[in-house]
Amino acid sequence: MRTIKSKEDGNVLSAKSAKKKPSNYLSKSLYIRGLQCHKSLYLEKFHRDLKEETAAEAQERFDIGNMVGESARGLFPDGVLVPYIETENGVAEQLRLTSEAMKKGSKVIYEASFQYDGIFVKVDILHKGSRGWEIYEVKAGTKLDPVYVDDAALQYYILTGAGIKVGKAFISHINGGYVRKGALDVQKLFTSEDITKQVKEKQLFVIEQLKKQRRMLKGKLPKIDIGPHCSDPYECDFCDHCWKHIPDDSVFDLYGKGVNPFDLYAQAIIKQKDIPLDLLNRAQRQQVVATAKKQNAVDKKKIREFLKTLSYPLYFLDFETFMSAIPLYDGVKPYQQVPFQYSLHYQNKKGGKLYHTEFLANSGIDPRKPLLEKMLTEIPDDVCILTYNMTFEKRVLTELSTQFPKHKKAIEKWTDNMQDLMVPFRQRDVYFWKFKGSYSIKNVLPVLVPQLSYEDLEIADGGAAMDAYHQMGAAKDNPEELAKIRENLLAYCKLDTLAMVRILETLGELI
Ligand code: SF4
Repeated sequence: MRTIKSKEDGNVLSAKSAKKKPSNYLSKSLYIRGLQCHKSLYLEKFHRDLKEETAAEAQERFDIGNMVGESARGLFPDGVLVPYIETENGVAEQLRLTSEAMKKGSKVIYEASFQYDGIFVKVDILHKGSRGWEIYEVKAGTKLDPVYVDDAALQYYILTGAGIKVGKAFISHINGGYVRKGALDVQKLFTSEDITKQVKEKQLFVIEQLKKQRRMLKGKLPKIDIGPHCSDPYECDFCDHCWKHIPDDSVFDLYGKGVNPFDLYAQAIIKQKDIPLDLLNRAQRQQVVATAKKQNAVDKKKIREFLKTLSYPLYFLDFETFMSAIPLYDGVKPYQQVPFQYSLHYQNKKGGKLYHTEFLANSGIDPRKPLLEKMLTEIPDDVCILTYNMTFEKRVLTELSTQFPKHKKAIEKWTDNMQDLMVPFRQRDVYFWKFKGSYSIKNVLPVLVPQLSYEDLEIADGGAAMDAYHQMGAAKDNPEELAKIRENLLAYCKLDTLAMVRILETLGELI
């Protein structure tokens, strides 16, 4: 099992030191885990073997957090860094380095380290203000989340307990409205919100919660059932263990908004077939009834109407994109989807020869210009373009037109002529019980076109494609590895548009 350790946990749970810690030892991340669910904290301390394999997303979140934390240091440049030291005496050494920097009169300390009440914390940025030290906790999110306040409240408790005069506490999070122009403007990239009042008001709460968590850890595994807390504020990594009694086709597999599955669960209704139908909206009722009877529904009139909206030549388009908390290129916002690849199948007439073309950018460059230039040579401006989930492709194209205004007209013609193959599935004009309520292409394809599958591909979803594109950068000196990643990416994106071709053919066969 791969474990992602927080800066604080890394010190206390390193192989040598972990044995010496009392069983009710807490760290900042353990405290936050305990606020979410006592059972999760207990399992983390005593039954880590029950934890799911750490997801790639968790590693990615961790990497993003580190990258954002390092960028935020630009808010207060020229500080002293207290590095993370993972040795037996690592904690003592980090405390010593922090104390030394403060004594020497440093006004800015990165990763300043403190310990009180048996809890060790590292502060992202500690800045000496006119009214004492200011805590800056850096977050990769784009808004002030309540859990950030809990995080900072514990830090305030530790620092004041350790005798530090803390004047203010801030959360510095990403400003989602920032648009990069030229060099990165760190002052604009981050928004710092003063949460001193909330943090001070939480001090009694922190003391009480620490007591409760420590008391709980001395006892047996708490009896806590599953609930909305399993994914709020974070996806719990013990779900595999706690949710194993939930069968397939349960109330939690109902698609779309409607009845709250936890309300049903509280009434001991777990299987979809046990739900009184009058509690469900139209789409959910269709899902439940179709699953129970293994029934498919096809509205031929609606499919005909949809097919009439298409014209030939018909171009099937799909983009792959990546995003980054810190915008890498001009005109890009934090977390904006930047296209690096597309696949294009096209037919000049219905049932005619199928052509394919594609583009995949080299890593390490801004991919938008070469991508758009190739599209301009390959897609006439008066053809019908078919996508699956048109909102996404339209947004990517609109952002390209903002960045390259001289091609705005051509791009607008593409978006004006765009149609969405997802529509008949989203509207349930075609509904097969095996879709299980979903209209995602990943669920629709294997049911309608079983001979095509994502299962045999190395890359099977957009998140994996994004990771692979990042890996191309790391593999730039290894031609063999690079060629393999490129091949996998091209195969994945090509299947997305070929899937559309075959699904459209199947719609034709259904009527
Ligand atoms: S899965 Fe839910 S109930 Fe189980 S430990 Fe996690 S949060 Fe608690």
